[in-house]
Amino acid sequence: MLRRTLLAAASSEPLRRAVTTAPQARAIVDRYVAGDTTADAVRAAGDLRAAGLLVSLDYLGEDTADAHQAADVTGRYVRLLTELSAAALTGGGCCEVSVKATAVGLLLPEHGEKTAAENIARICAAARDAGTTVTLDAEDHAAVPGALRIAAGLRPDFPGLGCVIQARLRRSQADCGVLATPGTRVRLCKGAYDEPADVAFPKRQDVDLSYVRCLRTLMAGPGYPMVATHDPRLIDIATTLALMAGRPADSFEYQMLYGIRPAEQRRLAGTGARVRVYVPFGSDWYGYLVRRLAERPGNLALLLRSLAPDPWRR
Ligand SMILES: Cc1cc2nc3c(=O)[nH]c(=O)nc-3n(C[C@H](O)[C@H](O)[C@H](O)COP(=O)(O)OP(=O)(O)OC[C@H]3O[C@@H](n4cnc5c(N)ncnc54)[C@H](O)[C@@H]3O)c2cc1C
Repeated sequence: MLRRTLLAAASSEPLRRAVTTAPQARAIVDRYVAGDTTADAVRAAGDLRAAGLLVSLDYLGEDTADAHQAADVTGRYVRLLTELSAAALTGGGCCEVSVKATAVGLLLPEHGEKTAAENIARICAAARDAGTTVTLDAEDHAAVPGALRIAAGLRPDFPGLGCVIQARLRRSQADCGVLATPGTRVRLCKGAYDEPADVAFPKRQDVDLSYVRCLRTLMAGPGYPMVATHDPRLIDIATTLALMAGRPADSFEYQMLYGIRPAEQRRLAGTGARVRVYVPFGSDWYGYLVRRLAERPGNLALLLRSLAPDPWRR
C-alpha cells in the first residue's frame, strides 16, 4: 500500500516542487545520484573503476514530450560517451550507458517509436566508436513492447545493445525465452513501477519466484545475463545457477544501483565476479528518487523530516 502511494507521488507536481526545492533533500539525493553534471558522472565512473567495478551511466529524465528535448538528451549521451572515452573509461565495455526510450522520444505524439529508435541508434553508434555498449532500461508496462521492438530492430547493427526485463511483469518469462540468443545482453531486475494486477504480479513473493524462473532461462541459454538485484537470496541463486550451467565468470555479471549495498558490490567483485554499478546523474532526479524510496520506506522518514520546517530556525 505504502509502495503504491509513494509511486503515485512520482507524478505529483506539487510534491515534486516541494521535494526538489528543499535544501535538506540534497543529502538523500546524494546517496543515490552521482551529481548534476557530466563531469560529476565521469568522476564517479573513474572512482568505481579504480575500485574494480564496471559502470553503467544513466542521464536522468523520462517521459520527454518534445522532439527537441529528445534530441538534446541524445546529444548529451553522445557527449558523455566522448568524454568517457577521452578519460579511457570505455575500453572493453567497462563503462557503458543506460537509456530510457521515453527520454529520447518514445512517447512523442507523432512518430514516437521511430524517433526514439533513431536517437537510440545515434547513441549506439557513439558507444560503438567508444568501444562500449548501451542498455535500454525498462519502464512501465505500456512502454515495454516499444522498447523491446526498438532493441530487436537495432540489434543486427548493434549486437551489444542490451535490454531490461522486469520479473514483476507476467510476460517476462516468455520475453526471456525470446531473448536467450547468442551473446544477447539481458538485464534482469524485479521492476520498480506500480503496475495493474492483470499485467504484473502484485505479491513480492511471486515477483521473486518469477525472477528465479527468468534467471533459469537466461543462465541456461547462450546470452549474457546481467543479474540486477541487491537481494542476497537471488544473488546466491544466480551464483548457483551460473555454476550449474558451467558459465565462466566473464559470461555474466551482477549489477547494483549506485549507493545501495556498496560493500556487497566490492565483496562480490573481490571474488572475481564481474560487478557493474548503475550510476544515475543529472538534475531531473525526482522520479528516480521516489522509486528508490518506495523500495525502502525507511528512507521516507528522512525525506519527510527534511521537508518539515526546522523548529530551531527562525
Ligand atoms: C542495475 C539495476 C538496473 C535497474 N534497472 C531497472 C529498470 O530498467 N527498470 C526497472 O523497473 N527497475 C530497474 N531496477 C530497479 C529494480 O527493478 C528494483 O526496483 C530494485 O533493484 C530493488 O529490488 P531488489 O532486487 O534490489 O530487491 P529488494 O527486495 O527491493 O531489496 C533487497 C535488499 O536490497 C537493499 N535495497 C533495495 N533497495 C534499496 C534502496 N532503495 N535503498 C537502500 N537499500 C535498498 C535492501 O537491503 C533490501 O533488503 C534496476 C536495478 C538495478 C540494480
